[in-house]
Amino acid sequence: MEKEKYLNVARPHKTCLLCGRSLAGVDKHPSILTKWEDEAVRKDYCPQCWEKLTSKDYFCYWITKRLQPAPNKQLSKKERNNLLLRLFESLYETADESRAYTLFFLAHLLMRYKVFKWKGTREIAADPDSTRPTQTLLIFENKLTGEEIQLPDQSLEGEKLAEVKKEIDEYLQTNLPEELLT
Ligand SMILES: [Zn+2]
Repeated sequence: MEKEKYLNVARPHKTCLLCGRSLAGVDKHPSILTKWEDEAVRKDYCPQCWEKLTSKDYFCYWITKRLQPAPNKQLSKKERNNLLLRLFESLYETADESRAYTLFFLAHLLMRYKVFKWKGTREIAADPDSTRPTQTLLIFENKLTGEEIQLPDQSLEGEKLAEVKKEIDEYLQTNLPEELLT
């Protein structure tokens, strides 16, 4: 077969010949060349359809490896830190008690990323006139502004932790700086 013709037929199809499923997202899949009126015809199958195929009539068989698109664009450390800080500050300002756990988690994350500095804890005595018990506050310092940050201590809970982690991952993915979206 002429090389040019071969290259022409060798171009992979976008979809499986049988089920029509897109092959772009499939890591690798079978491909064959069959003869049709002395011409080589390329056929691509998803692995599942290939398994089910009863008559496999070909003169050439190989596995096509598809190049997968680059993984999610990565934020630089600085971009990530800026986004996390922005989220922290917006939640901190609202002082919404239902977000206390998210703030607690974010503060530790920002400490790990060296945006916040750990300053220690502070005990707030129980209020004798009410039922409020003694409270422990965690004290951080925003290293950029020198601002002191106080957060009520939280007990670690696996379920809440997983929820907050997921929320923050989604936030980072949906707030990519514009230059990373192109
Ligand atoms: Zn298929």
